[in-house]
Amino acid sequence: MSDSPVQTNIDFSKPGTQWGTLDIPFSYNLSGWAKLKIPISTISNGEGPTVLLMAGNHGDEYPGQIAIMKLMKSLEQEQVTGRIIFIPAINMPAAKAATRLSPLDGKNLNRCFPGDIDGTATDLMAHYLSNEIFPIADAVIDLHTGGRGVYFYPCAHMHLVDDLEYRRRMAKAAQAYNTDFTFLYADVAGKGLLPVEVESKGKTIVTTEMGGGEVTTAAVHRTSQDGLKNVLIHLKVIEGEEKSRVDLGLPPTRWVQALDAEDYIFAPESGLFESFVDVGAEVSKDQPLGALYFLERPDRESTIIHANNDGIAIAHRGPTLTSQGDILFCLAHNVEAEVLRTFE
Ligand SMILES: [Zn+2]
Repeated sequence: MSDSPVQTNIDFSKPGTQWGTLDIPFSYNLSGWAKLKIPISTISNGEGPTVLLMAGNHGDEYPGQIAIMKLMKSLEQEQVTGRIIFIPAINMPAAKAATRLSPLDGKNLNRCFPGDIDGTATDLMAHYLSNEIFPIADAVIDLHTGGRGVYFYPCAHMHLVDDLEYRRRMAKAAQAYNTDFTFLYADVAGKGLLPVEVESKGKTIVTTEMGGGEVTTAAVHRTSQDGLKNVLIHLKVIEGEEKSRVDLGLPPTRWVQALDAEDYIFAPESGLFESFVDVGAEVSKDQPLGALYFLERPDRESTIIHANNDGIAIAHRGPTLTSQGDILFCLAHNVEAEVLRTFE
């Protein structure tokens, strides 16, 4: 145990169902000794794995938050073998404000790991997870979308870890989400990611990108919720029969990756962005993918955005209003057969 100032009324060793909060100390102008309360619950029943289920790491990513809130209320203790820890909105201030970053300190929780015991509220959250929760979990499921900024083809994703046994375990768990694409991603946007911290402890980590922008379709909710249940069955923490895509009458998942810097296309200047292609579409090198238009200069030629390479448009920008440097497209490519063999 660390000497974290974060407190909880949950006793993680206790069987049964508990509802409580994580209390993180912070100050603001109307309260010197405030507690930031993050709802948490556990269902524990006999011997089995411990799975941490969380969403709202980025506050403006809601399908996972809804999926967890629905699941935590609907599961009976008898359906669980082992323990599930539910945190539907870990970055509560950001979830309430519909922001990616915490409005308390401007930090991105997913760049704050392993955390800092002397830091701000977001650093303390990361530190508590790293030191108190990840060590007792066998698997962590952290549900994301592309946030308001990016619209993703709904998919599960993972890092390509080096250890082959560990990689296989992660790939099987990610694949249990039964998404059309399963995505290998690179850390293009810095350090301090939650999955890297979980991987440093050798635990299984399943993450998703369930759409994004500000619209969540009914289909995306279904994919988020059905896949989540199937992953929990796969991890043997809830009862049920694991379903493969074949069982569902679907073709196998398509493993894709975007591991090179040129797979990520950024806005060369500010403007209004139009995508010419839908996510999931195959594109070819030099194909026009979209355009930027200029509100103050409608006479100007639009700036056409071209594909750097052949690939699949796995994600494009969410909002139309675009600033120079915003991500416009992520192009993914088929994972090589020799890598796929290491997943089996
Ligand atoms: Zn996210």
